Amino acid sequence: MAKMKKIVKTITVDADRCNGCRACEVACSAFHATPKYSIVNPARSRIKVITYRLDDIFFPIFAGAYTKAGCEGRDSYIIDGKEYRECDFCRASCPTRNRFTDPDSGLPLRCDMCESDPPLEKPKCVEVCINDVLIYEEREEEVEEGEPIESIEIGVKALVDKHGLNEVIETVERVQLSKKA
Ligand code: SF4
Ligand code: SF4
Repeated sequence: MAKMKKIVKTITVDADRCNGCRACEVACSAFHATPKYSIVNPARSRIKVITYRLDDIFFPIFAGAYTKAGCEGRDSYIIDGKEYRECDFCRASCPTRNRFTDPDSGLPLRCDMCESDPPLEKPKCVEVCINDVLIYEEREEEVEEGEPIESIEIGVKALVDKHGLNEVIETVERVQLSKKA
């Protein structure tokens, strides 16, 4: 398979600096509202701050890939003597919890690094974090052509899982007809 150059964007989390202000959740949900900035609803954010307020523990997690089935088991972590809840550090949008699921549509939410046209200098969550918890970097990498599933395909797969293929096809046909009318 042919190789191509790709800009890889990363955000490194320095969790020790996080104070749990949740500005990143606010900024992300506002940026992804339609139209942009029309509403703030952290339930729609693609970053969630795992919080144990009594222990002063705050840990930002970014929404990763959608997965159709939940894991067979559950992961737990003990760090510095503190036991975290199962799945606390998992980035997946999965059917067994609703951490990265749009509350209205039920569609999975995934961090898209704030892709937009024109591009942003840095993602919104990074921009608003005054404690420098989120460190943004870009680098060039060689990757194979024929890329993974784009976000639109992930959304369609989730709709099919939830409503069934026929219902989705019929809905698309209805939308097409209403556009022509
Ligand atoms: S904006 Fe920064 S400090 Fe505030 S919760 Fe998010 S990561 Fe933590
Ligand atoms: S990079 Fe953008 S899409 Fe991803 S969590 Fe931050 S604000 Fe949301």
